[in-house]
This record gives sequence, structure tokens and C-alpha cells, in this order.
Amino acid sequence: MFGADDLYQEIIMDHNRSPRNYGSMDNPTVELEGFNPLCGDQIKVFVLLDEDKIVDIVFDGIGCAISKSSASIMTVELKGKTISDAQSIFDAFRLMITGKDLDDDSLDLLGDVEVLGGITKYPARIKCASLAWHTVNSALTGDSDVVTTE
Ligand code: ZN
Repeated sequence: MFGADDLYQEIIMDHNRSPRNYGSMDNPTVELEGFNPLCGDQIKVFVLLDEDKIVDIVFDGIGCAISKSSASIMTVELKGKTISDAQSIFDAFRLMITGKDLDDDSLDLLGDVEVLGGITKYPARIKCASLAWHTVNSALTGDSDVVTTE
């Protein structure tokens, strides 16, 4: 019998081996690059919006297993959501990744993203896990041209 940590790790490694929604997009509504200089992770996200709905989201880039898996898991979760839902998920992710306790509503929002919660045990990797999320959040809110975790 596997413990929850083993199962979570297996899901993360699976997303690293076969990342979902990996590639580029011809006509994205928004696209943005993100960097994590601490680890050397680079990511580019492409989002296709229909009004406030995320119709399609893909990512491209190079980085460690954690950054890639996190981006992959994120795209699966955000596809089909509205921008405001995505922001609620992002807020819940940020609470989880900084080690805060989550209420049931936040856990429901996170869904499979919860597998990334184990990263809080490895503080050096938190920026790897949050890179894609920061990048998409900035892309959706039009915050900045390039995102860096520093
Ligand atoms: Zn990394």
C-alpha cells in the first residue's frame, strides 16, 4: 500500500515524464514568459480566452521536474475555467504552497493541484512549483511583461 506522499510523488513524476498541454499556440490571447533564476527554470505560457473563459492553455520551456510538473498540473486544472475561478485557484495554491492551512472550499478548488502541497517540505523548490502559477496570474491580470520569482 502506498502512502499519500508516494502517490503524490508518482503523479508529479508522471506529469514530468509526459507533460500535458505542452507546446505552443499560434494565436494566443495572452502569452508571457517566466523565469526562476534560482533554479534556471524558464517557462512560457499561452492562453486563449473567450471573453473571461480560458478556452485553451499551453506551456513551453525548460526547467526542473518540479517546475514542469507544476505547469502541467496547472494547465489541466485551469483549462475551461473563468479568469475569476483561476484567480481563486491561484489564491488557494499560494496559501497551500506557503504552508497555510486550507479550508474545505479551498481544497475543493485545488482538486488535483493538491499533489503539489508536498513541496512545502522542500523550501528551495517552492519557487520552482510556483513559477508557472505566477506567470499565468500575471498574464491574466496584465501585471508585467516578464515574470521572475526573485
Ligand atoms: Zn526548478
